[in-house]
Amino acid sequence: MDFEHKISVLGSTGSIGTQTLEIAREYKGIQIKAMTAYSNADLLEKQAREFLPKVVSLTDESAAKDLKIRLADTNIKVSSGKEGLVEAAVIDDAKTVVTAVVGISGLEPTIAAIKAKKNIALANKETLVTGGHIVTALADEYGVNILPVDSEHSAIFQSLQGCKDTNEIKRIILTASGGPFFGKTRKELKNVTPSDALKHPNWNMGAKVTIDSSTLVNKGLEVMEAKWLFGCDNIKVLVHRQSVVHSMVEFVDNGVIAQLGAPDMRLPIQYALTYPNRLPMKNNELDFIKYGSLTFDEPDTDTFYALSLAFDAMKCGGIKPTVFNSADEAAVEMFLKGKLSYLGISEAIGKALDKIENIENPTVEQIFEADRASREIVYGM
Ligand code: NDP
Ligand code: MG
Repeated sequence: MDFEHKISVLGSTGSIGTQTLEIAREYKGIQIKAMTAYSNADLLEKQAREFLPKVVSLTDESAAKDLKIRLADTNIKVSSGKEGLVEAAVIDDAKTVVTAVVGISGLEPTIAAIKAKKNIALANKETLVTGGHIVTALADEYGVNILPVDSEHSAIFQSLQGCKDTNEIKRIILTASGGPFFGKTRKELKNVTPSDALKHPNWNMGAKVTIDSSTLVNKGLEVMEAKWLFGCDNIKVLVHRQSVVHSMVEFVDNGVIAQLGAPDMRLPIQYALTYPNRLPMKNNELDFIKYGSLTFDEPDTDTFYALSLAFDAMKCGGIKPTVFNSADEAAVEMFLKGKLSYLGISEAIGKALDKIENIENPTVEQIFEADRASREIVYGM
């Protein structure tokens, strides 16, 4: 199939980024015009030599200096800092920007990309959690699409193809794998170490999203992401251990449409890049017989109470979702460094939510101010 698509990949060295490049390797029509990472000069150099983008950028200044020397024999421009990330997001030649950086760092480049009329293939859920009201309004104003990469949201998006009236949606059913600690009590999780929490049963992802999956914070962020993507806040979370039903939409007539597939992020990434078309994909057929049965359970919001905090934050709106997200970012960072206990992650989120007053319709500046304030509370724990 003839297919051409020029893209920019923010976070090309990460889990989503490298899988995006795998798809570009398969479909040569996908051309990479810019790629970025935080500090991984080794891998970004290799990727740059293979895909020959116009611009590469590393946020870390000294890593960027090193990369500039390494790529001196090429015509590839090397940029740095937050400006470099924005430069990659607005590069003239790209039509779509894949946002695969981690955390609130995705917000500013995504806003810049929308203002430059790029479609967004959105993996960075934190962008919608923190700035959903700004980003969705800008996407409408500039007439660009926000195409979900997160597997659950891609499943909902796929299930909604053919739905002409969003009033026909009764509720969204987000599935959750339950993570490595499904069935455990809070007491049993007291001494969890980073290496315990980094073992996800079904998905191989970056460290932050893996820890978030184990605490169900990831599901909480996804609830807020779904609200912004689909304009519906009637959202039910179900634990589905096999990660085969990637999510579902229940309509007013009680019909339910789901998207199923093997747990493989390449499909949602590829669909966001080829939408509304579908292209063949190797090695990810769903083997129904291998699974045999599919199970569904209520989430345990006593052990994993960050999920309830996320629903509360979504209902409050304003700055609360940012506080939820930023407290979690700081808490996960501390947990991975051995400075906070596993159960301390949910406690930290609760503490920041209690301490920070809400602001309705926050500006980007107020969002970053709340980000700083939330981190300060957590670092002080
Ligand atoms: P990874 O940690 O694997 O990769 C993150 C990428 O972003 C790397 O390229 C990293 O560079 C770069 N990066 C990290 N911090 C910053 C920063 N502060 N500023 C700029 N760039 C930065 O993450 P994932 O690929 O797992 O996740 C990316 C996003 O996609 C997250 O928002 C996650 O929630 C979402 N997502 C991920 C899924 C998955 O399967 N992995 C599934 C669904 C959603 P470097 O390598 O130099 O550190
Ligand atoms: Mg997901």
